[in-house]
Amino acid sequence: MNILPKFFINLENFELKQNNAYIDNTEDIQHIVKVLRKNIGDIIELCDGYWDYSARITEISKNIIRLEILNKDKNNRESNINIILFQCLIKSAKMDFVIQKATELGVKKIVPVDSQRVVIDLSEKENKKIERWTKIAKEAQKQCQRPVNPEIIKSIELSKIESFLDELDILIVPYEKSNNIRLKDILANKQYKNIGILIGPEGGFEQQEIDRLSIYNDKVKIVSLGNRILRAETAAISTISIIQALLGDM
Ligand code: SAH
Repeated sequence: MNILPKFFINLENFELKQNNAYIDNTEDIQHIVKVLRKNIGDIIELCDGYWDYSARITEISKNIIRLEILNKDKNNRESNINIILFQCLIKSAKMDFVIQKATELGVKKIVPVDSQRVVIDLSEKENKKIERWTKIAKEAQKQCQRPVNPEIIKSIELSKIESFLDELDILIVPYEKSNNIRLKDILANKQYKNIGILIGPEGGFEQQEIDRLSIYNDKVKIVSLGNRILRAETAAISTISIIQALLGDM
């Protein structure tokens, strides 16, 4: 049996009435016809954010694909916890990589952060960058069959991270010079639902940046990821994975 890739349809491009649905977004139509090479009678897998559907193509034209829904199942690919990744800006290819992997690992929101040792200057390019990152996230979302893609917002100064603390149960800050406090000890038997992670840039954090964050020690936890110095992208992926394994859905 041929296992089909799940085709993600945004709600606004997909209308379902009883057992009939249609897709009228030209990009999606092109993808189904030209890339997936689907024809009338073929079955495609769809997702509208809440449900996964199997649907048979009943009509194909330039502007519309009509479908008959064969069955639907609740989509269970979203994690039960909300992870927000605050990622200090790192070189372009590495940032792209982190965004792709964070999406696969179920992160709900990505916030680019400017800190003292950041060497990337986003200024004029910011909107283009966010567009690019959003595209990467959407592609990763399709591939891993998540129903929603993470939100990627405008970058913030590190000092502004304080304004996010209200919406977080905990902010985890991996810092290689920390006192050897491990994630598994901080998270053991905890029920945190809204979890922030702050990862430094290639050059790491200044001690004074960490000291300032430590003021909020009821919410902010400075942790170690072990004795080896990890690259920022490795630190981000490892931290997300450990949290998903301890509290989430891995
Ligand atoms: N200051 C460093 C390395 C920074 S690594 C240097 O020697 O150049 C980039 C980021 O990854 C850090 O800011 C931190 O958030 C995280 N990181 C890497 N290794 C880590 C470790 N062993 N423990 C905790 N955090 C780590």
